[in-house]
Order: sequence, then C-alpha cells, then structure tokens
Amino acid sequence: MLRINEHYLKLQASYLFSDIAKRVASFQQANPDKDVIKLGIGDVTRALPEACVAAFHRAVDEMAADASFRGYGPEQGYPFLREAIAIHDFQARDAEISADEIFVSDGAKCDTGNIQELFSVEAKIAIPDPVYPVYLDTNVMAGRTGDFADGRYQGIVYLDSVKENTYVPALPEQPVDLIYLCFPNNPTGSTATREQLQQWVDYARENKALILFDAAYEAFIRDESLPHSIYEIPGAREVAIEFRSFSKNAGFTGTRCAYTVVPKECMAYDASGTPQPIHALWNRRHCTKFNGVSYPVQRAAEAVYSADGQQQVQELVGYYLNNADRIASEIGKLGYSYAGAANSPYIWIWGDRDSWEFFDMLLNEAGVVCTPGAGFGKCGQGYIRLSAFNSSDNVERAMVRIREALS
Ligand code: PLP
Repeated sequence: MLRINEHYLKLQASYLFSDIAKRVASFQQANPDKDVIKLGIGDVTRALPEACVAAFHRAVDEMAADASFRGYGPEQGYPFLREAIAIHDFQARDAEISADEIFVSDGAKCDTGNIQELFSVEAKIAIPDPVYPVYLDTNVMAGRTGDFADGRYQGIVYLDSVKENTYVPALPEQPVDLIYLCFPNNPTGSTATREQLQQWVDYARENKALILFDAAYEAFIRDESLPHSIYEIPGAREVAIEFRSFSKNAGFTGTRCAYTVVPKECMAYDASGTPQPIHALWNRRHCTKFNGVSYPVQRAAEAVYSADGQQQVQELVGYYLNNADRIASEIGKLGYSYAGAANSPYIWIWGDRDSWEFFDMLLNEAGVVCTPGAGFGKCGQGYIRLSAFNSSDNVERAMVRIREALS
C-alpha cells in the first residue's frame, strides 16, 4: 500500500484566491453591467521591454538554423547571462558576487520553495507574518512544522511584521537556523534599511544561521539610502542566499526567468559540526533536478542589462510606481494609514475592520478587487493589499470609485 507524505495533510487549503474569484463572480452575476477593476493580484500587466522582445526573436532565429541551434545548455545558466547579472546587479553596487555564484532558474517561486531541501528537517525556521506563502508551505510539506492551530503552524518561529516595527520584524527571542526575509516586502511593501539588515546578518553570523533573502521586488527601490542586495551588507556573503527574478522588473511572469545567488562562503553544518559549502549542495541539486532555462529566454533576460533594456525597465517599473503613488496619495487623503508604495508595487492598508469585510465593501461599493491581508497570515488581519500592477487608467478609475465609496 502506497503511503502519502502525511505532512501534506497539514497544509491549509489556500482559499484566498479562489475565495476572491468566487466573490467577484457572484458580484458580476448580480451586477452584469458593472465593470470590476482588479487591483488584487501581483501579476504584471504591461508588455515585455522592446529590447527583450528583439533579443528573444533573434535567439529564436538562431534556434531555427542547424549552424546556430542550441540543445541543452549549462544547468546553472549561460555564462553571458550569469556574467551580466554579476556585473550589473552586484559588482556595480560594490557587492562582491561572481558569475559562478549565480544560478539561473525559471522562477524565484521554485527557488525559494526548493532551497529548504538542503537543510535538516530539524532546522528551526523563522518566517515573517504576513508572508509570501511559499516559504511556509514548503517547510510544512518537508515536515518541519507541527499541526496548524489557532492560525499558525506549531514549531515555526513567526516574525511579526506590524505597524509598531514598521513591518520589519525584530530578531527572534529564541535561536533559529533558517530565516526568511523579503524586501521590498510582499505583501506589506515595506523596505529594510542597511542598519536593519546588518542586525540580521550579525545575528546569523553569531548563531551559525542562514538568511534566505527574497529580493524579487528590488527594482522598485528608488530611495538611494536603501540597499538593493543583502550583499551590500558587510558579512552577508557568509550567511545569506539571495533570490531575484525578472518577473516584476521586466514583466517575465509568463516568460519565466530568475536567479539565486549562493556565495561560496555560505556554510551549513553536518552532524559532526563540520562546515559544508551550501554552493556545492545547491549546485548538485540544481544539476540533478533542473535542466536550464531555455536559450531564447536567457537571451531575453540578458537584454535587460543592455543600455536600451535598462532604460525600458526603468520606464516600466516607473509606470507601476506612479500607479502606487497615485493609490497611496488617495488612500492617505481618505484618512487611512498604509505602508509600502514608495519603493514597492504594493500598498498595505489598515482598514480597521475584518480584512474580508473591507474586501466585500470595496467590491460592492466601488467594484474594485483587493487582496484581504488575512490571507497572508495572522498579522495581516485588518489589512488589505492593493497592487499597482494595472493600467494607469484603471488605477485612476479605481481611485475615483474608492474615494466615492469611502468618503
Ligand atoms: N517572491 C515573492 C516575494 C513574490 O511575491 C513572487 C511573486 O509574486 C515571487 C517570489 C515569484 O517570482 P517568480 O515569478 O520569479 O517565480
């Protein structure tokens, strides 16, 4: 008799997006002539930058001729892309990362979900609340938690991200081994200063812990005092892995390309306490379970770093940031407190009422879809998340309607 992995049974069915879809469908059924504006999802809406599209086309043409055709590529990614990443995303910011520490993949979702495989099932995990659910669910699947009770999994050290700490969690009171951090944050839109990240790096070095730093929204940082990479923080090479993605800066959510940085100094320990380089373990895993991102997609990603690509990505991100700014200023004028928007596509709004009640009110009164904060964790209760990923026309119309509904 085939037994299942019982840890899967502990997973809470994620009703968040299906619940949202159901409520929107029933609203539309009851109000067939009202249009609904969706500011709920975290998916981009604008086309790929022209430089990426042109590089994509050229690479497809190469695949069409025997002389330039390419089959399997290096699992870790082609050197042309790894080198462009190392130079532009790290060395240009004085972050000491080399091309062979970069692993190109088809998504930060997979990488942030898969990385935990390298570590002991006994590892003590610290996870922010609210959170991008992948970090939590993949640790549940791996058996690092107890049951779900009272809105939380037993055995996880939750890092509360609340108004009082400006949504940047404090260091844990008990020792932890693996720490998930995400800045700019999904869902709160908060950012972490150099000093705040330095505290985490110092903590990880003192405790032989590892930070898993998700920087999928790095391109949205406009405040020059903020670090873009954890490797801008002294000591981070020893204790941090960073995840990046082309999804939100260059619109690759449907094209799929991302990368993970594993510095050679990062260590985890075997049962005898001997340090083992994580780089070698991740390389082994990647080569065993992954066969590389397609050549045309890697060429399209490389084009992000061309002069035209850089300018087009700036424009694209700027467009969404303008939307975020528009949403935030209207929400502020209505007297609601919020986080995010300035260096992030998300606006995290304190509704001072149940998240779903606020969701229903915005849907029914304004025809606008948001994401209820409670779906991201216990600390998200009372909040909603609005996303800037939509056309500026839709954002404008949504804000007019929200103003009418809430004032
Ligand atoms: N990390 C965070 C925090 C995200 O919000 C998302 C997507 O919404 C991802 C990772 C997924 O990125 P990718 O499209 O590269 O899989």
